[in-house]
Amino acid sequence: MSALHAKTRLPACLRALVCAAVLLGAEAAPARRTPKAPTRKTQISARHVQIHANHRSPRNAQRPTRRSTLYVILHTTEGGARGSLAKLSANGECHYVVDLDGKIYAIIDRHRVAYHAGVSMWNGRTGLDTCTVGIEIVGYHNRELTTAQYSSLKSLLQELKGVYKIPDENVLTHSMVAYGNPNRWQRKRHRGRKRCGMLLALPTTRAKLGLYRKPAYDPDVKAGRLVNADSELAKILYKQGPVREAEVKVVQAASSQFSSNVIGPGRSAWDIARDLYKSPGTVYTFPDGTKKAGSEIRNWKTMPAGTKVEVSADTNENPVEGLMVIGTDGTAAELAGDDITAASTFYFLPASGIGYKTGSTLSAAQAAALPAGTKMLVGYSVGGPVSPKRPVFEICSVRWNRPDTYYLTADGKLTSGDQINEKTIPAGAFVFFRQ
Ligand SMILES: [Zn+2]
Repeated sequence: MSALHAKTRLPACLRALVCAAVLLGAEAAPARRTPKAPTRKTQISARHVQIHANHRSPRNAQRPTRRSTLYVILHTTEGGARGSLAKLSANGECHYVVDLDGKIYAIIDRHRVAYHAGVSMWNGRTGLDTCTVGIEIVGYHNRELTTAQYSSLKSLLQELKGVYKIPDENVLTHSMVAYGNPNRWQRKRHRGRKRCGMLLALPTTRAKLGLYRKPAYDPDVKAGRLVNADSELAKILYKQGPVREAEVKVVQAASSQFSSNVIGPGRSAWDIARDLYKSPGTVYTFPDGTKKAGSEIRNWKTMPAGTKVEVSADTNENPVEGLMVIGTDGTAAELAGDDITAASTFYFLPASGIGYKTGSTLSAAQAAALPAGTKMLVGYSVGGPVSPKRPVFEICSVRWNRPDTYYLTADGKLTSGDQINEKTIPAGAFVFFRQ
């Protein structure tokens, strides 16, 4: 961190050099992988996009190079610049941040993988961190960008669209691509996990960013891979053509509904906090004035009406859902919904060593009868066993050291990917990673 801070104290002339170096470095990587040389137009626009390097993530060195770049994903930070920049840089959660004054900060080098999309799907493809550039815009999903943000984001998008040959309709919002696995409130895999970047889907907003085409519908809901759990959000995301005044009011009404943070009839903790509902940074204030963090709450069925929900701006973009425990976190049916017997649901019985059960090998009754203390993962793939001939990177690529990747070893222990050393992964381990 001290090296990063030192950069902020560089004299202006040196800072300009740092910025220039970032620009040159950013140009070099895609040029290697792009058959055509960058066009003159791309080179000209690149010169106009000034990028600041003083919040570059310390995680750059450990992030692999992306093999393809198909989409740009737009996010809103849902918090102020200072905290957001620190958190996004520390976790390496995006490629760029666009501040309120229009300044653009490089976080993860744009040819590398940044962890910004989380559980995500577009047109059947999942885990979109491996094929996307992620831009965080300081602000909120239901508020307009500043004039300076529109201007600099437009330039940045022009450059990225040119370098990676990305058409306008492949510039998406996080809320378009994020999906959730089943939970207490949603029995199926669903859209609506995030509202992130919502207003950046409106045609009027997109026109200000030089984006004149957008997806006409949600391809994964249309194909039945996901259900739509947020109809107001979907209306905003897939609105076509010019927006009339009456329609803007619909958007604002939807936004104010989103901002109501009190649990009541038809309004659950999930409706308010979405995937942050059980996060340690989400605070529930009960009608009697007592407070509890989301991570401390076990019985979600008896949340009293009138409970206020506050989501912290410091929470990670994509909280790690990871391992759940039957009995402690809920029943198998509550935790997995319709995926209770899916091939992507895995059960780890207490004291069963390397043995694990796949949901698809059980009946719903058998899964429901699994003992308390059984651990489970929903929305996962399994690979292995790991061996010198089958290294883990071949099994799950860049996911190998993610905190929501788990290694099952002969002693029955499950170890998170961020606790694993590449050189000491025991041969014979199975690896469970998010789809
Ligand atoms: Zn986001």
